[in-house]
Parts: sequence; C-alpha cells; structure tokens
Amino acid sequence: MSTRPHARALRRCPSCGGPAPGPDADSFPFCSDRCRLADLGKWLRGDYVVSREIREEDLENPPPVSPRDQRAAGG
Ligand SMILES: [Zn+2]
Repeated sequence: MSTRPHARALRRCPSCGGPAPGPDADSFPFCSDRCRLADLGKWLRGDYVVSREIREEDLENPPPVSPRDQRAAGG
C-alpha cells in the first residue's frame, strides 16, 4: 500500500491557466504580476465602460464606477 500525501489543490492562474503561486505571492492568485494586470484590465473593459484607455496607474487606483441600473438620462 502506498500512502499518498494529501496534496493541496493545485492553484491555477485565472488569466493564463498556468500554475499559480500560493496566497503568499504578491501576484496571487495569478502566476505573475503581468497576468494579474492583464486579467484586471480585461474585466475592467468588459464589465465597466471606460471613456479612455486603461493605464497601469488605473489598475492600482481604479476609477469609481456607477451601478449598471443607473442609466444616463438623455437630453
Ligand atoms: Zn498567468
């Protein structure tokens, strides 16, 4: 009988699907800071409407977004 160690669940980078580091990593849960920024920019463009291009500084301090329910009144 071979007792296999209780291996922890392998974390995967949500951005590239590669092996991701543990929560101790600065880029957690992504494999790298690059993937972290890439994924962040992705959902920023997808979920929220921005009037300008996403910049690195935005990723650190994302601008406030208004709720979707609130529609812009025409006029
Ligand atoms: Zn990655």
